[in-house]
Amino acid sequence: MSHPHRSESANTSSAQAAPSSPAAQSPSPAQEVTLRGFQELIRRMYVEKDIQRGVDGTFMWLIEEVGELAAALRSGTPEQQREEFADVLAWLTTIANVVGVDLTQAILEKYGQGCPGCGHWECTCSDEEKP
Ligand SMILES: [Zn+2]
Repeated sequence: MSHPHRSESANTSSAQAAPSSPAAQSPSPAQEVTLRGFQELIRRMYVEKDIQRGVDGTFMWLIEEVGELAAALRSGTPEQQREEFADVLAWLTTIANVVGVDLTQAILEKYGQGCPGCGHWECTCSDEEKP
């Protein structure tokens, strides 16, 4: 399957020894991953391709990955489920990069004061409401 993110990540992980490589600063499995760091990592790895592809094409990739996540949740192994969660998050992050949205800012604005519906840190919205 032609998948730019997947093939790129395979390339960068094998190039981590190169001092000038952006992947040299990428999070290793032993480190915590922050949302800001992840968005910056995705930006460094893909932003030129992502901008060329544009929002519409990138959104199609996201939806394809959402479909793959659905399949993995239904019948995949835990490893396959982790991979699809990572892909969905990566493509969502890519779209944010293309349109210039800072995901950390977006999340703080929406959820930084608790539930957007009721304002509490433990949601007390009624079950009929979305949150
Ligand atoms: Zn609530």
